[in-house]
Amino acid sequence: MDVADVVVIGSGPAGSSTANIVAGAGYNVLLIEKDEWPGKNNVCGGGMSEQRADKLKLPDKILEKRIPYEVHHFPWGVYENRERHASILRSKFDRYLAERAEENGSTLLTSTKAVNIKRRDGRIVVYTSNKKNISTISSDLVIFADGVNTLAKKFGIGFKKDNNNTALGLVYEIEYKENPIDHYEMFYDRNISGWGYGWIFPKKDLMNVGVGCRISKIRGNIKDIMNYFMSSPVVSTIIQGRKILNKKAALIPLAPAREIHDQSMLVVGDAAGMVYPFFGAGIENAIVAGEIAGRVAISALDENDFSKQFLSEYKKQWEKTSNYALMKRQSIMSKFLLPLSNLDAYILQKYMNISYINDVSRNEKMRIALYPLFR
Ligand SMILES: Cc1cc2nc3c(=O)[nH]c(=O)nc-3n(C[C@H](O)[C@H](O)[C@H](O)COP(=O)(O)OP(=O)(O)OC[C@H]3O[C@@H](n4cnc5c(N)ncnc54)[C@H](O)[C@@H]3O)c2cc1C
Repeated sequence: MDVADVVVIGSGPAGSSTANIVAGAGYNVLLIEKDEWPGKNNVCGGGMSEQRADKLKLPDKILEKRIPYEVHHFPWGVYENRERHASILRSKFDRYLAERAEENGSTLLTSTKAVNIKRRDGRIVVYTSNKKNISTISSDLVIFADGVNTLAKKFGIGFKKDNNNTALGLVYEIEYKENPIDHYEMFYDRNISGWGYGWIFPKKDLMNVGVGCRISKIRGNIKDIMNYFMSSPVVSTIIQGRKILNKKAALIPLAPAREIHDQSMLVVGDAAGMVYPFFGAGIENAIVAGEIAGRVAISALDENDFSKQFLSEYKKQWEKTSNYALMKRQSIMSKFLLPLSNLDAYILQKYMNISYINDVSRNEKMRIALYPLFR
């Protein structure tokens, strides 16, 4: 049996951020990833704030584009929003974060899937499988950073999905050499998404086209919805005659998990439901929570205390962040707006327009709230 101080399951943004911090303090960290390389199969729009990209000091080869503004297409009008973003490709970005963690001393095991976790004699045993065999690793602490289908569920912690708290997203990557488009476009139309939106996010040589919808609000088949979106006037003009390079779908958690730690266990990122429920964005939360988990793991290792009480510091610190505050607010508002959406199909879109788009006048807000009464 292999031995490590900490095993991190999953080398997405959450896992690699945690591993990077813990290994940096000199502890022995095993970062395990089921895919051939980090990010190989991770489905995403690849949007994050420019501020976060700068904080990570992303080199040019990883930072696809700086995005100075967004355009939002609502049924009642088109709005520009001056929010600065960055655009990345997960196939490169996740690899970059994992390599950074390796440079800091983590050991990355790729093509290695965690298949079971057990508690044994006060330690955690992680069972892994690669193409050849099953192995075991014993550690003081395990970090679940394994995304929406987390193994943490077995211990009553982490995200537990159901049709009402999870969205399905479908992304097409479309060839677009030297893509000149410099902004994000989001489309809110109930034929595209009853609870979510369609998007086009430009990369250097690609266009990322996607749709995301809360599963309980999907009408029909997500592929048909994507076809409808692709044939809409703005999108069809942009992608006309271009080759679709790949099509990938994945789930997005839309509700924060109640419990994100237990004795010898921390849960980070999507595995803990740390996604903004309105935007479906979770990269930054995964990084912020991953870094907090890393610092708390170091204290636990320093003090040799892996009790549930000691590790509750992770939850306390996460809940003090502005990321948590926004996620929680959106989660509460979702619970309130979801039943109302049976009366007004555009309730979420109206709320988003009024609350998150800059420079919307009071009269305009009134007109939006009363749509379709006043067009
Ligand atoms: C269609 C779509 C579009 C999105 N667009 C955006 C966006 O534009 N901006 C944004 O901020 N967020 C977006 N998100 C959300 C974002 O992708 C996630 O919030 C983010 O990836 C969370 O990071 P993570 O590290 O927690 O989990 P993940 O990125 O899911 O990483 C988990 C990792 O664990 C590995 N793994 C899983 N199980 C095991 C196992 N048993 N053993 C070993 N390895 C395992 C996986 O292969 C993966 O590499 C989108 C999501 C979807 C589905």
